[in-house]
Amino acid sequence: MDTSIQRAIELIGEARHIVALTGAGISTPSGIPDYRSPKSGLWQKAEDMVEVASSLGFRRQPQRFYEWLRPLLSIIREATPNPAHIALAQLEAAGKLEAVITQNIDLLHSRAGSRTVYELHGHLREVVCPACHYVTSAADALDAFMTAGVTPRCRRCHHIMKPNLVLFGDLLPRAPLRAAQQATHTADLMIVAGSSLEVSPACDLPEMAKAHGARLILLNYGATHMDDLADVVIHDDVAEVLPRLAAPWTAPRLADALAALMAATTAPLAPLLAALDAPDAEQAGVSPSA
Ligand SMILES: [Zn+2]
Repeated sequence: MDTSIQRAIELIGEARHIVALTGAGISTPSGIPDYRSPKSGLWQKAEDMVEVASSLGFRRQPQRFYEWLRPLLSIIREATPNPAHIALAQLEAAGKLEAVITQNIDLLHSRAGSRTVYELHGHLREVVCPACHYVTSAADALDAFMTAGVTPRCRRCHHIMKPNLVLFGDLLPRAPLRAAQQATHTADLMIVAGSSLEVSPACDLPEMAKAHGARLILLNYGATHMDDLADVVIHDDVAEVLPRLAAPWTAPRLADALAALMAATTAPLAPLLAALDAPDAEQAGVSPSA
């Protein structure tokens, strides 16, 4: 595996336009189950998925949808970004990563500090009115639901609002999909992390990247149908491997902190404490050197 990691680091070093594509597997180390999978424990029966979490299901029984969503919401609200999310945010901050394309709705990329994130399946940042399309921040609405069971109502037309998620049978939101395709067209390296590449369009983007001449790194616990097409395949824990792939571009920050430490041995302690308190030093500490 070390040879694959070394090769992946070389590809990242050589690339000028890198995009990452992430799926449920990048958030499982944060404790979030893949809500689209029947194996996630969030479903009684497979057919419930369409019955409960589709636009039709939501229109028929919004209360049932919200009760289904409750355990997932509760997990996501407690979850924090893991080293894999942080590694991608650090690669972007270091100028090595242009965008994260994700199927996840949990906002953990943004919370880790990623700035350019294309959320193909929507997100939990907003709620939207299915009748008049009024959109508002989800924070207060979902708080009220979690604490008092109150489903959010549109302030314009009084319909029950839904989280801005792609439900089963919905079309993907056009703007992030178009941006993701654009980024894929111009990429010379795509890093797939934590996606089994079974759901469209995630399964199409790596192929599109390859067709445009990009190289492909596949990092996922299990095998995918794209493994043969990839330049590097790593079947391992994303939270362990992604920080290692990012380390060459995040290490300088650690070096800055160490330089401050060296300087402080002959100087007053204040700069040392300031360096150790700096968020950059703290983030650099997250990436394992093993
Ligand atoms: Zn409305």
